[in-house]
Amino acid sequence: MVPVIHHPDYRAYCFGPDHPFSPLRQQLLWSLLDALGQAPEAIEPAPATRADLETVHHPDLIDRVEAASSGTPPPDAERFGLGTPDVPVFAGMDAAARLLVGGTVHAVQHVLDGHARQVLQLGGGLHHARHRLAAGFCVYNDLSVAIRRATSAGRRVAYIDIDVHHGDGVQWIHYEEDTVLTISLHEAGQYLFPGTGHVHELGRDFGTGFSFNVPLQPGTQDDSYREAFERVVPQALDWFRPDLLVVQCGADAHWQDPLADLLLTTHTYAWLFRALRALADEYAGGRAVFTLGGGYDPDATVRVWALLYLILQDLELPEALPAAWLAEWQSHPALQGVTLRERLHDAPRRFAVHDAEAIARQNREVCRRLMEMAVRYWY
Ligand SMILES: [Zn+2]
Repeated sequence: MVPVIHHPDYRAYCFGPDHPFSPLRQQLLWSLLDALGQAPEAIEPAPATRADLETVHHPDLIDRVEAASSGTPPPDAERFGLGTPDVPVFAGMDAAARLLVGGTVHAVQHVLDGHARQVLQLGGGLHHARHRLAAGFCVYNDLSVAIRRATSAGRRVAYIDIDVHHGDGVQWIHYEEDTVLTISLHEAGQYLFPGTGHVHELGRDFGTGFSFNVPLQPGTQDDSYREAFERVVPQALDWFRPDLLVVQCGADAHWQDPLADLLLTTHTYAWLFRALRALADEYAGGRAVFTLGGGYDPDATVRVWALLYLILQDLELPEALPAAWLAEWQSHPALQGVTLRERLHDAPRRFAVHDAEAIARQNREVCRRLMEMAVRYWY
């Protein structure tokens, strides 16, 4: 079994009923796993300490988050990205965010201690938080704090981000480091938040050549996405030779996602999760930590993350979702207007996108340019 990290209080990380980053997604996932008879016994993590947070965050940001935890933003909160539409403040926000960080740190520590080769953190993935700035629904950057734990122990970490948004926070925090490789596949920044993640963002100083970005065209479908992944990720790992992978498994590149424009089906997610495990085996002694991330269509997100869980546990994939679970949630007031699909997988499909060939060609060209630039730093 792959150990699972989770705490019931993860649901306290909640920006309010109308905010897309809703804890309902995890509640749905948990109840689905339960209905499938597969609910894991989770390890409950402790919150990250202030000392942990300070390994990547400026004390001024932590002070403001602590102050905002009364539920009222401090006067200069916006300079730190707090009290904004994306990151509104809420009572208890510091404790809620610290617990998610603690979960990802625990997952990495579990691997460092040799208790398991792979660990699944059923939460976290807050990849937009930066050194001194909360952003994009992310207060603290659990991924970077956990990565820092590993690099402080002398390990080399390859961070792979399949969330549809650029993994900017993680990239910038480790931008000058040669012990962290970041690879982000995302919808290109000219079309989507946070606007970065261009091919030429390759790192700085000692970190030059250690940052890989694959900006994809809106309308990218399964085949082109998989091709891009295969053109970049194995080669980068082969060059870097990590001790450990940290993978952010945002589900918002799915075609149903309302905030972005990539068109992946669940089949590509299943393919990705298997490919990432195989890459961990080949390049990192099997060591990998998986976290959640974005994902704003509840139906798609719960199915993608159920696949993540079932595939990591080597469990058989059910075709249909349990009828009682569907009935229970379909009538839930929080899911008004959402249709839950009856099957775990999407029907395999190609979307009738105008210029699908041109999109695939542009993605191929992006990969070619990226690898042409990156290779100079590796030979
Ligand atoms: Zn995202």
